[in-house]
Amino acid sequence: MTRFLASAAAVALATAAQAQDLPQASSDWFVAGQTTIQELLDRQPNTNRARNVILMNADGNGVGTNYAIRLFMGQQEGGLGEDYVLPYETTEWYSALVKTYNINAQTPDSAPTAGSMNTGVKQRFNLINLGENAITEDCTTEAGNELTTFAEIVAEMGKSVGVVSTARLTHATPAATVVKTAYRNWEDAVPEGCENSRDIATQMYDAMESGLLDFAMAGGFRHFAPEGFEMDGLTGGRPDDVNLIEQAQAFGTQFVTNTEGFEALVLDHSTPVLGLFENSHMQYEFDRTDEPSLSEMTAAAIEYLSNNEDGYYLQIEAGRVDHALHGGNLHRVLVDGVAFANAVATAMELTDPADTLIIVTADHEHAIAFNGYCGRGSSITGLCYGIDNEGIQHNGEAELGDDGLPYTVAGFLNGAGSVLAPSGDGNAFVGSRPELSQEEATDPDYLQQALIPMSSETHSGEDVAVYARGPFAHLFDGTIEQNVIFHVMHHAAVVAE
Ligand SMILES: [Zn+2]
Repeated sequence: MTRFLASAAAVALATAAQAQDLPQASSDWFVAGQTTIQELLDRQPNTNRARNVILMNADGNGVGTNYAIRLFMGQQEGGLGEDYVLPYETTEWYSALVKTYNINAQTPDSAPTAGSMNTGVKQRFNLINLGENAITEDCTTEAGNELTTFAEIVAEMGKSVGVVSTARLTHATPAATVVKTAYRNWEDAVPEGCENSRDIATQMYDAMESGLLDFAMAGGFRHFAPEGFEMDGLTGGRPDDVNLIEQAQAFGTQFVTNTEGFEALVLDHSTPVLGLFENSHMQYEFDRTDEPSLSEMTAAAIEYLSNNEDGYYLQIEAGRVDHALHGGNLHRVLVDGVAFANAVATAMELTDPADTLIIVTADHEHAIAFNGYCGRGSSITGLCYGIDNEGIQHNGEAELGDDGLPYTVAGFLNGAGSVLAPSGDGNAFVGSRPELSQEEATDPDYLQQALIPMSSETHSGEDVAVYARGPFAHLFDGTIEQNVIFHVMHHAAVVAE
């Protein structure tokens, strides 16, 4: 017994004392690993009450898509990409994995996922902020099933609420900030027989008029103005004759539609602000003209909302990461993903972690996958190049499938880039993979190869990550249900002393 204790102690001593004597101790990897450990040891949980909460959601940016954004941003900055650190991937941020399913869906959609973050409970597929007894597309089940949103809770405390999205303002994620509806597609009208229900644009407008929502910027002009109404090149599309834009201007709202208007905004919080920059969604960052970037809208929202000494809740969405994924076009996914990362960096710069909880997450992942044994620095949108046994960077030779053809690093299990096409013979689809060059694969308009033919690639039920900085960010740990995100925000901003 004595002998065992003595030898165990000796081993422990040798291990503890001799890290710097290990043959690998001078390796950059070893030194960086030690630095990470020191940063983690120095990290102190922040138990301040959160004055401000910023929830930043890149729609569709699951762990896989986020991996692609990391490599793309790193490669754009001249590196190999794999070792790049996104603004929310430093040791300043705590993180957890998030289970995204809906009450009745293994693969979620963005309405109940955003709803779960805004109310603290999971919801049914395609509806927003209604309890589990509500039924999708059944407006008679809205009454009595409305949930209270985080925005409503903190507005009661005197905080201001803002929402920014590159999708339509009436789209699922921005809507979930304040809206309650049995169907996410009732953006400017409700079905016949639903006279007690309000469409999503009307609910957003009502939230601004009542003072619940002070700042809103996104696309979606068409849902706020009636058919035939034109303004700055945008056209209304509401089937009723209601002009929510003119009504909002009538109670003093600053309304803008382009960069000129955006830059002229007075951000002193004396009047509500509404920006609607497109009829439908805002443009992809890759194609963007005459509308502000996500980072610019984030900065404007924070400047505006910071005028309230009682603080604010701001929900920001990079909505078009999801849309480019649905389109099977990885280049636009990643350019919008970089725009999201830049918006996170802007939010970090303009806020103090002592009083502001920033949460970075996604609502769900997509059917994206990463192929092959690629060497370091293979372009994340391009071909998978082989591993160089003697060097670090790939060997420049495309890896081949058993069909003798090269393949890209990233692909989709379903979508518009399917290698199968109708044969013209009944329902049969046939196909083989086409020859592919690096030039074709890295073209910004290229659709990565997919298997199952679908005009719109689908979401997947895979986990996403959540990252957080600021008060009670350390509560994010392990693998959590998506609705727990609300409970962290609630604890940090409402419950904490
Ligand atoms: Zn989607």
